[in-house]
Amino acid sequence: MTQVDSIILSGFIVTVNPEFEILKNHCLVIHNGQILAILENDQTQYTSNQLIDRTEHIIMPGLINAHNHAAMTLLRGYADDMGLMTWLNEYIWPAEAKWVNDDFVYTGTQLAIAEMLKSGTTCFSDQYFFPLACAKAVDESGMRAQIAPPVIDFANNWAKDAQDHIDQTLALAKQYKNHERISIAFGPHAPYTVSDQPLTDIAALSKQQQLPVHIHIHETAFEVNDAVEKLGKRPLARLHELGLLNKNLQAVHMTQLNDDEIQLLVEHQVSVVHCPQSNLKLASGICPITALTKAGVNVCLGTDGAASNNDLDLFCEMRTAALLAKGTTGDPTSISAEQAIKMATINGAKALGLSAKIGSLEVGKQADFCIIECNHLNTSPMYNVASSLVYSTNSAQVSDVYVNGVCLLQDKQLLSLDETSLMQQAKQWQLKISQTSST
Ligand SMILES: [Zn+2]
Repeated sequence: MTQVDSIILSGFIVTVNPEFEILKNHCLVIHNGQILAILENDQTQYTSNQLIDRTEHIIMPGLINAHNHAAMTLLRGYADDMGLMTWLNEYIWPAEAKWVNDDFVYTGTQLAIAEMLKSGTTCFSDQYFFPLACAKAVDESGMRAQIAPPVIDFANNWAKDAQDHIDQTLALAKQYKNHERISIAFGPHAPYTVSDQPLTDIAALSKQQQLPVHIHIHETAFEVNDAVEKLGKRPLARLHELGLLNKNLQAVHMTQLNDDEIQLLVEHQVSVVHCPQSNLKLASGICPITALTKAGVNVCLGTDGAASNNDLDLFCEMRTAALLAKGTTGDPTSISAEQAIKMATINGAKALGLSAKIGSLEVGKQADFCIIECNHLNTSPMYNVASSLVYSTNSAQVSDVYVNGVCLLQDKQLLSLDETSLMQQAKQWQLKISQTSST
């Protein structure tokens, strides 16, 4: 028998392989951070000191949150029940100008990682200031992330102009070039906050260095109409002219799309990141994911920041995405449970350029996965595993989470972060921020 790092016995393994196989009574054999084999539970080829019995559980690929501003957990509930531009101009941007620094980002990102790990997320895409503080939190926690520092025309606490944002992103990309869990992307904030020259530079640098580009685009009808009025063209057409439409582009939100634009996304293999709860909460609009999926566009899921969601729970996001697609099209077959799971796993990996490593449970991939308890009232009985995960599981049923073969959540206990201390630190930030806001 061959000795391996760990063997995890399961009730079901939702592989999310191309055939979407769901294997009953199988185990994951893990060695050197990778999936070495997937076999029946009673296999006798391998042995391990870490033989873990999860036969009353489901193992699925770790969820991938393809759009987040992790540190904004510290502004969770700071301003709600208003439209995007009021929310940004009158609340979020002034609060960020006053409070955002290395400490804010480090603590806020740790708080976000703790919440994400406990709800089954193993990888997230982040777009926020002070990305070194974010990278430090990711590195220490054992989590996986794509970090896309923002590029924005105006000065802020982190950078003085668009060029400074780009230079700092390039330095970060150099520093993390060979990190096994952290990848770097450009994160131009939105077409209305970044002018043509920096966008053109980003297009060229992205191509030259093979770095993805992550951008909020067509988030609201106002954004599109305002661009037409001021520039005579829709934002997506402008990005096309500037050379940004290609398989490295991660287009976040996309609530306003006509048929020609959907075709443009197909032709250029652009990925769309759907953030249904944030779009609903800000009444920004609804991304037409049924049409996009039918056309062949890669659609994945993001929560957006906790200030506009207000949680980082991808189980909620999967369910909302499936229900919203049915409700808006009037077609109950639109976005099946299986499609919702793909959006939260393999499609996210494709969007981030990481599908060779993560997104499904297949031999040779990195061992990033979560384990879900089945023995709960809300998931009994369980006729269909995929349906149970999307329509009745809640994230409190996540018992264990592994990234790169390393256990980060064991029996619902975080192993690399101190939950109690994080909640105390969040409380201290809340007191500080709310005291000065009211004066
Ligand atoms: Zn966002």
